[in-house]
Amino acid sequence: MRIAIAGVAGRMGRMVAEICAEQGLALAGGTLRAGEAAPEGVTIFADAAALAASCDALIDFTNPAAVADHARACAGHGIAWVLGTTGLSKSDQAAIDRASREIAVVQAANFSAGVTIMLELARQLGAALPAGDYDAEILEMHHGRKLDAPSGTALALGRAVANGRGEPDQVLPGPADRSGARPPGAIGFASLRGGQVVGRHSLLFASEAEHITITHEALDRRVFAAGAVRAALWTQGRPPGLYGMNDVLGIGRPA
Ligand code: NAD
Repeated sequence: MRIAIAGVAGRMGRMVAEICAEQGLALAGGTLRAGEAAPEGVTIFADAAALAASCDALIDFTNPAAVADHARACAGHGIAWVLGTTGLSKSDQAAIDRASREIAVVQAANFSAGVTIMLELARQLGAALPAGDYDAEILEMHHGRKLDAPSGTALALGRAVANGRGEPDQVLPGPADRSGARPPGAIGFASLRGGQVVGRHSLLFASEAEHITITHEALDRRVFAAGAVRAALWTQGRPPGLYGMNDVLGIGRPA
């Protein structure tokens, strides 16, 4: 299987290239933007369409601005798309959904096994703990160069809680201004930025008598890159569809 990496000079792109090299996987090449230096030994293609023509699966940790182009390139060449970019708009998501009718797409806001399990726990806790008694709050922290807030993982946790509560259409995230009384049944978000934090997420259920908190901390972005490579290998021979890391790992239901 020939794997390609969009944004191969980025933090995640470089890490994916390293994991492919460690695992002895055939790397077709990558794309990068003007002014970026190619990682050693990686063939650079002019654009996503040329890259997609030369591989079986494209791993994509880039920017929402690239989503529509990458959707066209992957669907146009009938290759699998492993998408980790976060901060997506509704129209980005619509382009992803359309592509998934033609090709296998694995989309995850977080490719770690730990967060995939945490999403399933969030859904179960959402189902078990009445929204009227337990306030759900999600706190995340990342390094200061992260562009989107709340993180894609925080939003996925919120969606998992809302799904568990049977309220999948709940508007997420809630108002950024948290002053005033907490609206009943709301799912709250808070984002911290600074230092070298790769990704820390806590989900808190707070009632008047008890608190339940589950926390995941990624210590190294290798965990995301290794998960994405695993997802790319998993796409081999899969029919078109929109898959999640839960499908790759065989865990629970989609968040
Ligand atoms: P980064 O800034 O280090 O790298 C992004 C790369 O994308 C850059 O090298 C750049 O060349 C490329 N890029 C930017 N705009 C582009 C465009 N319009 N077209 C094509 N390429 C473009 O960022 P990063 O830390 O590697 O994160 C990238 C994305 O992946 C972010 O959205 C981040 O939130 C997400 N992320 C997801 C996971 C996960 O597990 N799903 C984990 C970490 C990061």
